[in-house]
Amino acid sequence: MVSAPARLRCAANALFRRLGANPGLHVTRWLAIAAILLVSLLGSQTALIGSIDEKLISARLAAAPRPATGQVVVLAIDKASLDAAGVWPWPRSLYAGIIDRLAAAGVQSIFIDVDFSTPSRPGEDAALAAALKRAGRSVLLPVFHQHARAGNDTTTEINRPIPAFLENAWPVFANVAVDGDGAVRSMALGDIFDGVRIQTAAAALAGSPDDDGSIRIDYSIEPRTVPTYSVSDLLAGQIAPAALAGKTVVVGATATELKDIFAVPVHGTLPGPVIHALSAETILQDRILEPFDQRLGAVALALVIIAGALAWRSRHVLVIITACILLVAAIESAAFVLLKEASVVLATAVPLITVALGIVLVVNERFDVVRALMAIAHLENRTTRRLMKRIVADSIDGVIAFDATLRVVEANAAARSVMGMAAEHEAGPTLERIDAIFPDIATALQTLLEDHRRDPGRPHSARIDFVRRKGADEAHYEAAITLSHADADGVRTSAGHTPLAGCVIIRDITARQVYHERLRHLADHDELTGLLNRRAFVDRLPLAPKGTCIATLDIENHDNICATFGRDVGDDVLKAVADRLRARAPQALLARLSDDIFAIALAVDDTKTLPDMANTLLGWLDEPLAVGAAGMEARARMGLCWLADVSVEQAIGAAESALDDARAVPGCRWKIYDPASALRQARYRMLETDMRTALAQGEFFLLYQPQVALTTGHLTGAEALVRWQHPSLDLVSPADFIPIAESNGLICDLGRWALETACREASAWDPELTVAVNVSPIQLDRSDIVADVMSALEKSGLAPSRLCLEITESSLLDSGDRIFDELERLRAMGIRIALDDFGTGYSSMGQLAGIPLDKLKLDQSFVRRMLDDNGVRQIVRAIIALAHALKLEVVAEGIEGEAEQTMLNDLGCEIGQGYRFGRPLKAKPFRALGA
Ligand code: C2E
Ligand code: MG
Ligand code: MG
Repeated sequence: MVSAPARLRCAANALFRRLGANPGLHVTRWLAIAAILLVSLLGSQTALIGSIDEKLISARLAAAPRPATGQVVVLAIDKASLDAAGVWPWPRSLYAGIIDRLAAAGVQSIFIDVDFSTPSRPGEDAALAAALKRAGRSVLLPVFHQHARAGNDTTTEINRPIPAFLENAWPVFANVAVDGDGAVRSMALGDIFDGVRIQTAAAALAGSPDDDGSIRIDYSIEPRTVPTYSVSDLLAGQIAPAALAGKTVVVGATATELKDIFAVPVHGTLPGPVIHALSAETILQDRILEPFDQRLGAVALALVIIAGALAWRSRHVLVIITACILLVAAIESAAFVLLKEASVVLATAVPLITVALGIVLVVNERFDVVRALMAIAHLENRTTRRLMKRIVADSIDGVIAFDATLRVVEANAAARSVMGMAAEHEAGPTLERIDAIFPDIATALQTLLEDHRRDPGRPHSARIDFVRRKGADEAHYEAAITLSHADADGVRTSAGHTPLAGCVIIRDITARQVYHERLRHLADHDELTGLLNRRAFVDRLPLAPKGTCIATLDIENHDNICATFGRDVGDDVLKAVADRLRARAPQALLARLSDDIFAIALAVDDTKTLPDMANTLLGWLDEPLAVGAAGMEARARMGLCWLADVSVEQAIGAAESALDDARAVPGCRWKIYDPASALRQARYRMLETDMRTALAQGEFFLLYQPQVALTTGHLTGAEALVRWQHPSLDLVSPADFIPIAESNGLICDLGRWALETACREASAWDPELTVAVNVSPIQLDRSDIVADVMSALEKSGLAPSRLCLEITESSLLDSGDRIFDELERLRAMGIRIALDDFGTGYSSMGQLAGIPLDKLKLDQSFVRRMLDDNGVRQIVRAIIALAHALKLEVVAEGIEGEAEQTMLNDLGCEIGQGYRFGRPLKAKPFRALGA
C-alpha cells in the first residue's frame, strides 16, 4: 500500500523527470506555462478579460430571467402624459395632484425622480409643498451629485429640492453610476448629504437597512414585469386604487424626449426610473449579486492544468479534448447555477482562458508547435517546388536550367526533344551538347558567362533567333537565356565559378515565321498575278546593273476585254500575261504596277538593242494567251528606258513617260524614253494640276489685239486673247493651256469668264469699237452658249452688236442642228459670228453656205505665204470673193507688213489684224488706243 503523500511525491518526480529528461524542451512549453500562470494571477485585472467576464455574466443573467415582485410600481411620465399636460416642465401643481391621487390610493411611499432644485411660481411651489405635507412625509425627493466646472477645477455640488419641499419630504440620492463602457451595472446604497449619510432612492424604496456601499443590479429581473402605469392614466382616474395600494411608486420620465435613458447589460437601454425600480427589486428579492474572490482557485486551476497537460501528453487527443470540454462545461454550469440560485457572480473568463492555454500546452507537448509550423512551411516549399517543376515540365517551350558548372539540373520534354536528349534521367554537362546543336546559343551563352563573371550581382540575359534544318524543312527558333545570381547555399559550384543559376528557354517560332513571311510576301506582291507590286519593284531596282532596260507595258485592249467578257476574264488575261512574262523571262524582275500596267527590268547589252528587245517582248504577248477555250489576244504597248540614262528613282517614271508617248501616237507599239517629251508631259501635268485653282486665284487675264479697217486704217475693235500668269512658269501661252483646258473640261468655265471679262472691259471703250471673243468647240458643245452670252451682256451692259464670237471649223464638224440653232439665235440678238482660222480645217468652201456666219477670218498662214506664192494669192482671192458672195465680211489675221496690208486691201479684204496694227494689249492701254 503506498501512502497518498508518497504517491504525490512519485507523480511530481515523474513530472520533473519529464521536464528535465528532455533538454531540447522547446521554449514554447515555458512560454505556455508562463502564460497560464500569468493569466491566473493577473488576468482578472485586465480590461479585456474584465469585459469578457461582463459579457459572460450578461449571458447568464439573460439565460435565467425572473419576474419582479410587483411591490415597486413605475408611474411613467411617458409620451401620452406629456401630450396630455401640453407643457414641460410640468407645473408643480400637477405633481401635487399625482401625490394626492397616489396617497388616496394608499401607496406606501412615492419617489418622484424629478429635479425640484429651483423654485417655480410661488403658487405652484406652494401647491406641491402642501401636497407633500398632506402625504405625510411619505414622498422621497431626489438629490443629485452634480459636477460643476470652474476654470480648471471640477467640484461636486449637491443638487437638492428647494427647502419648502424638503420640509415635508425625504431626500434620497438619485444618481445612476455609469461604468467606463457607458453601461449602468451597479447602484450605490447611500451617500453623505449635509454631513449625514442618507440612502439612495433604491435602498429607501426597498426598505434596505444599509446605506453604505453599492450593489450590482440584477438584470435577470425582467423590466416588463415591473408594473408600469402612465401618469396620464392616473390623472384620468383610470388606475384602480387596488393596483397601487401598499406599493412603492417611482414617478419618473420614460419618454425618450426627456432623455433619461441609460445603456444596461441584458436589456440594451432602460429609463432611469426603471433602473431605480430594478435596483429596489434587487434588494427586495435579496438578489444582491456578490462577487467571489477566485484568485486562489484560479492559481490552483492553473497548476492542475499545467500538471495535467504535461502528464497527459501521451493520452489520446480525444481524451484531452473531452476532458477540456467537460472542464469548461463544469466551470460554466457552476457559474450559472451559483448566479441563479445563490446570487454569486463567478468570473469565468480567467479559468476558460487558462483551459485554452492548457490546450496549447498539450498541443505543444504532442506536436512541438514550432516544429509543426516549420513542417508546414517546408511542406509549402515542397508544394511550390513541385508546382514549379510541373509548370516547367508542361511548358510547350523547351526549358533548360543549369548551374555554374553548366550541368543541366532540369530539362523538360520539349527541351529534350529539341536537343535530342534521350531520357529524362540523363544529366551531366549536357550544355556542351548545345554547342554542337545550337552554336548560336552557345556563343551567346559564352558572352553572358563573361558578363556574369565581371558583374555577378545582377541578372544577365540575351535573346536570339536562329534557324535549324529539320528534315527537308527549316525550323525557326527563338531562345531567351538568363543567368541569375544564386546564393552559394544549395547551388553547385566548382572552383573558380561564381554561383549562378541559368535558364535557356527555346521556343519554336516556325509557324509565326511562316506567317510573317506570308505577310511580307503579301506586302510586296500583287495578289492577283503574284508579281512584285510597284513599291517592291522600286525597292529592288537599285540592285539592278546599269545596263538594265526598264519597260512598262500596258494591255491596250484590256478595258475592252473587261467590258465584253467581264472583270473575271480581264483578271485571267492579266494573270496569263504575268505567266507568259515569267515563263519567257525567268531572270527578269517583273511587277504589276497598276490595273493593266506591268513593269519588266531586263539586262540588255546596249541601248541599240532596245528596239529589238521591245519587239521581242511584244512578240511574246502576240501569241494568244491561255484564257478561255479559244484563247485571248492581248495587244500591248510599251515604253522603255535604259537604266544608264536615268537615275533609279526616275526609271519607272521615264518608262511610263515613254509609254504615254507610245499611247499618244495611234498605231505606235513602243517608244523609247525621250527626255524632251518627258519634260513636255511634266509641264502638261503641272499645268493641268495648277489650272484647277488658277481661275479662282485670278491668274488669267485678257489682252486685246486691235482690228482695223484696211481701207481707212481706222480702229474697228479688238480680239480678246487670254493669258495665264502662272506663279512659277511666268506667262503661259493659250496655245499651251487651251488644249489642256479643253481636255479636262475647264474650258467651259474659262470661256464663260473670258466672255464676261471681255464684255465688261469693252463696255468701257468707245461705243463704235467691237470685241471678238474666241469660243472653243468644247465650250460650244458642252455649255449653254446663248445663256452665257446673255448673262455676260446683261452684267456688262454691252450692246450685242458690239460682240463677235469667233468659232472654228471644228466646232461645226459633225455638230448637230442644236449649235446651228444657237448660232442663229445669237445672230438674231445682233451678235456677230466669225469663222476663225479659215482655210486650216477640213471643211470645203462649199460647206460655208449653210453656216450661220457674219465674218470669215482668213488664217495667218495664207497671209504669210501669199506675197511669195501666187497660188496662195489666188486662193486668198477666191476665199474673199466667196465670202463676199455669201455676204460675209473678211478679217485677215497675222498682217505684219505694209505689203500684206496693201495686197489684202486690193483684194477687197475689209478688216486686218496683226502686229502691223498692234500687238495684243492689256485692257487699259487698249482703251487709251481707242479713245
Ligand atoms: P486665234 O484666235 O487665231 O488668235 C490669233 C493668234 O495670232 C493670237 O495668238 C495672236 O497673238 C496671234 N497673232 C496676231 N497677230 C499676229 C501677227 O502679226 N503675227 C503672228 N505671228 N501672230 C499674230 P495667241 O494669243 O497665242 O492665241 C492663240 C490661239 O489661242 C488663238 O488663236 C485662239 O485659238 C486661242 N485663244 C486665245 N484666247 C482664247 C480664248 O479666250 N478662248 C479660246 N477658246 N481660245 C483662245
Ligand atoms: Mg481668234
Ligand atoms: Mg485665228
